[in-house]
Amino acid sequence: MAKLIVSDLDVKDKKVLIRVDFNVPIKDGVIGNDNRVVAALPTIKYVIENGGKAILLSHLGRIKTEDDKKKLSLRPVAEHLSELLGKPVTFVPATRGAELEDAIAKMNDGDVLVMENTRFEDLDGKKESGNDPELGKYWASLGDLFVNDAFGTAHRSHASNVGIASNMKQTAAGFLMEKEIKFLGDAVENPKHPFVAILGGAKVSDKIGVISNLIPKADKIIVGGGMTYTFYAAKGLSIGKSLVETDKIDLAKKIIDEAGDKLVLPVDNVVATEFNNDAPHKTVEGNIPDGYMALDIGEKSIELFKETLKGAKTVVWNGPMGVFEMSNYAKGTYEVGKALGELTDAATIIGGGDSTAAAVELGIADKITHISTGGGASLEYLEGKELPGIAAISNK
Ligand code: AMP
Repeated sequence: MAKLIVSDLDVKDKKVLIRVDFNVPIKDGVIGNDNRVVAALPTIKYVIENGGKAILLSHLGRIKTEDDKKKLSLRPVAEHLSELLGKPVTFVPATRGAELEDAIAKMNDGDVLVMENTRFEDLDGKKESGNDPELGKYWASLGDLFVNDAFGTAHRSHASNVGIASNMKQTAAGFLMEKEIKFLGDAVENPKHPFVAILGGAKVSDKIGVISNLIPKADKIIVGGGMTYTFYAAKGLSIGKSLVETDKIDLAKKIIDEAGDKLVLPVDNVVATEFNNDAPHKTVEGNIPDGYMALDIGEKSIELFKETLKGAKTVVWNGPMGVFEMSNYAKGTYEVGKALGELTDAATIIGGGDSTAAAVELGIADKITHISTGGGASLEYLEGKELPGIAAISNK
């Protein structure tokens, strides 16, 4: 069912609480990558340009000690937001209390306020992450309307998303949330065929749910990266010293049976004697020799994967094809990324930090239909799970 969107709300003169995802990489107060802040701008601008007061809540990192609070204040993010918007942004160094309430009371229409990192509340009994009922109710009392634009935390039931929503008559999705639901939702529920999924990364256990959910929906499921070798072991191939999850071999066998020829595994691999860029390495087909570990897919696999992608109308990619952080084992990931960028007639969707980083490094990010801002959340969506943050948004 279609969700209520921020543009369905009359925000004029209203105090609009917006749960954004400002969980950016930050070190010594310097923001490493502001993609998430930029991605939240359309919703914030919509609210202030239509005469609302934007009150922003976000978490930043994990707060376990008093010391974490010093490193993970949202102040630098609020300052950066002010630069991006070209107008003052009020930062309140508190998550509750008189200072926050006074600052909100003083807001004029079109003003923007950022409150302190919602996870500061975690030091006192995990109130934010544990969705403490009193906290959700309190935050909800600070505004007239609630907009959830934080897809990155949609797979979690926290006070700042589900807690606030459960104390509001209506909750709307922000434009970023709307976009994520549209592209991931279309891929999972209504894909244009051929639909090809490319799954990589270290662990089968992280992606098992996605593979199982996509077997009946996808036309091909390409598997690369460290998780490949658990499938190799399930097929009775030797894997040398490659990464393997022995307790998942039976599950891999089941997937091989269920998926049949939908499952496309690498046919050759770059193997090395050690987990080291400079270790002796070579490309071998099939069995991985004793004393070697597979760290990337080989040329024949790259060709096979490119061939599999030809003519695809929907492609979802999550996870690298090898240890792409090391230059000698990066080719598989980059070639797959390039092939994705060349698919002009397909909806291409990337999830997960590593695949996103590869797309950015390749300079093809603008050729991708949608790069998800949520790693864990996008995986759970692809698994077909109901995400509590999305479930708590009102239907139209
Ligand atoms: P994940 O977080 O599960 O998406 O896994 C990403 C990590 O998997 C990256 O840091 C890669 O270096 C690593 N990886 C990919 N392929 C392999 C491989 N063949 N052997 C060991 N690690 C791998």
